[in-house]
Amino acid sequence: MDAEHAGNSDRVADGAVKTAAQFFDTEPFYQPIGDEIEIFTHAYESQLPVLLKGPTGCGKTRFMEHIAWRLKKHLVTVACHDDLTASDLVGRYLLINDETVWVDGPLTRATREGYLCYLDEVVEARKDTIVVIHPLCDDRRVLPVEKRNELIKAHDEFNLSASYNPGYQNVLKDLKPSTRQRFITIGFDYPKPEIEATIVENETGCDTATAEHLVKFGVMTRHLKGQGLDEGASTRLLVNAAQLIKRGVAPLVACDTCVAQTLTDDEEIIRAVNELASSIF
Ligand code: ADP
Repeated sequence: MDAEHAGNSDRVADGAVKTAAQFFDTEPFYQPIGDEIEIFTHAYESQLPVLLKGPTGCGKTRFMEHIAWRLKKHLVTVACHDDLTASDLVGRYLLINDETVWVDGPLTRATREGYLCYLDEVVEARKDTIVVIHPLCDDRRVLPVEKRNELIKAHDEFNLSASYNPGYQNVLKDLKPSTRQRFITIGFDYPKPEIEATIVENETGCDTATAEHLVKFGVMTRHLKGQGLDEGASTRLLVNAAQLIKRGVAPLVACDTCVAQTLTDDEEIIRAVNELASSIF
């Protein structure tokens, strides 16, 4: 049995903090874009895993928080990355005070307790890590814990969801069809301008005109996608800019720092994005 020393592993300690189950007593504000709440609820009741597909910063994580609040469920979020191992998800033996103790990973904990488990940016995880979710995502609904020789039957209320940004897709970082086809997929996108302005206003308390101007600017930057920018401004970036403006930062400075500089390092494109801002503010 391989045991890791808890005290010496920042990664484990860090992971434990980041993967704590959250419970929402108050409603996280989420502005629906279509019928995603109904669809997710049906998927949850049918015990189907759900893939949330859409660009960064368009509300996927907030949606999951809102869903967890609606369903009165704990939410366990795992930020996926290259170094994430199957043990990070499933669990490992740790040496605690000279005793070897098994510690469930976030996925195992959610499977046993019947929590919602959300794998954020699932394509960032290596394919050999992600295969551990396969038996959980079909009608078997089991999680094999090899190190303990244990097969955990998922709690009836357990649900697995994952987010995925098709914009970053490349050959190395794509979901295998065998993974993808285990999920139902809800498409997300930036909302219509009127709705996005409501979100920016609601999130920051900025005035309506500022929210509308920022959204107009955001939409313009999205037209630069593929013409120097990988992605235009996300709702998240517009919310950040509105926050600074609300605190008295000049709108053009807020657009430069929160949007132009954040989107690219290319001086020419930064100038072009800032010119779009100048045409509005
Ligand atoms: P993603 O997970 O898609 O990258 P997030 O859910 O973190 O994006 O959204 C980023 C921010 O944008 C949120 O913190 C929130 O302020 C705002 N936001 C985006 N879409 C919505 C929405 N539909 N309702 C409420 N807030 C939203």
